[in-house]
Amino acid sequence: MEKGDAGSELEERFAQLLREGSNCEWAYVTASIAYQLVDAPQEALRWLNVGVNRFVPSLDVELEKGDAGSELLRQRSLLRRELGLPNDGFDDLLDRLTDHGRQIGEQIREIRRHDETERLAVLYWPPAEFAELQRGRPSWYPGTTHLEHRREVQRALRQHLAPAVVTGSIGALVDFAASRGIPPGERSAREEFAAEAARRGLATAWPPGRNDACWCGSDRKYKKCCGASGFV
Ligand SMILES: [Zn+2]
Repeated sequence: MEKGDAGSELEERFAQLLREGSNCEWAYVTASIAYQLVDAPQEALRWLNVGVNRFVPSLDVELEKGDAGSELLRQRSLLRRELGLPNDGFDDLLDRLTDHGRQIGEQIREIRRHDETERLAVLYWPPAEFAELQRGRPSWYPGTTHLEHRREVQRALRQHLAPAVVTGSIGALVDFAASRGIPPGERSAREEFAAEAARRGLATAWPPGRNDACWCGSDRKYKKCCGASGFV
């Protein structure tokens, strides 16, 4: 520590902290940073070791980012790396924690991305477009009749939290896929196309009223068409 009153007062407080211990991991982090600032890295590391041993009772604990001890582990690992020390058990624990955190983060992002696409809209091909698809691009909905397609759309809509229908057009989809550089035949092109259409306000909210025209464009009442009991 620095000489002088402030320095010795701080040193005294650290000595007390070391004797009595603290329930706040930041006390140890702060002490370590203070020693790093006066270029005493070994002393800084000693504080992190004391803190880690207090807050991380074993190498098998299931720590999450933000849990007490995780910041100590992080500071300790950084300092040890700076000092050229090889990984020890606590460093490995931190690596696992970080890996775990990254994996969870990726999963959450993936679910959100999926949710957003799912929530935004379901793509529906009207009869003429669907017939053209079955002629020109039979691999998109192999062996599916338009009735089955309509049923699948109704079924998917029923599972959505905020359902909406986007009516597909082959030309628009092909243009869209080209603008995004995705092959138009991929499922993701169709999903993204529907999501983008919904973002641009081109989706129709579902369900229609029971006596309103059906979402599929048949001109029948919803309750007599895709909303009829037993349809799905
Ligand atoms: Zn219908």
